[in-house]
Amino acid sequence: MERLPTLFLSHGSPMHAVEAGGAGPAWEALAASLPRPRAILIASAHWETQLPMLTGNERLETIHDFGGFPAELYRLRYDAAGSPALAARAAALLKAADITVAVNGCRGIDHGAWVPLRWMYPAVDVPVVQLSVQTALGAAHHLRVGEALAALRDEGVLVIGSGHMTHNLRDWAQHRGDPHPAEYAVQFSAWVQERLARGDREALLAWRDQAPSAARAHPTEEHFLPLFFALGAAGQAAAARATRFYSAIDAGVLSMDAYRFD
Ligand code: ZN
Repeated sequence: MERLPTLFLSHGSPMHAVEAGGAGPAWEALAASLPRPRAILIASAHWETQLPMLTGNERLETIHDFGGFPAELYRLRYDAAGSPALAARAAALLKAADITVAVNGCRGIDHGAWVPLRWMYPAVDVPVVQLSVQTALGAAHHLRVGEALAALRDEGVLVIGSGHMTHNLRDWAQHRGDPHPAEYAVQFSAWVQERLARGDREALLAWRDQAPSAARAHPTEEHFLPLFFALGAAGQAAAARATRFYSAIDAGVLSMDAYRFD
């Protein structure tokens, strides 16, 4: 089976499901360029738990986990097939790496997953398993969770971390309508890109202390941690082969950067 890259996507707001600017076509083109995956394993910033959880059901109900958006967004559905077999395989890999994990049989698919997947696989014909994020456990934990699952790349599974390169919603509310990119969002994205390009995992793991404006780029960490999951899932040597396939700053402050790790 052909080896797949792992991906980090900045999923945007729920509006990106219908108006994604340049990101939608970029996600679409990337998916079209890949071998067709047997299934998708996606860690979304919008599912936070104390310990890792996987969706284990046969079908994932669409979760509209947002408020105050146009009615059309609540009518959108992405009821993907699940994959209990992939959930079991991923759980076994995590347990083999001494990582506690549970399978949740009733959790659906949230917008962190279905917004980009709607562009990538619009026919909803690839089974999906979601993995939760453990915000309190930080970057090293997510790298380790990803590393434990690296074998899936060779098993036809497309592994995705879905979050955001910068994610400060208070700045977003204040910046709304001003398209001029905030300096800190540009600098933070560039810092990450440089470290990924040279495979400097040590610096990346210390991002809270080392990256410029880290606390402003991510007042809370849940949207950044999926990057470490995707990086880890690519395997040990992967950091040297990070490719940014989309870059933009939405609404002046939300960096939409997306990476593939080969
Ligand atoms: Zn989000």
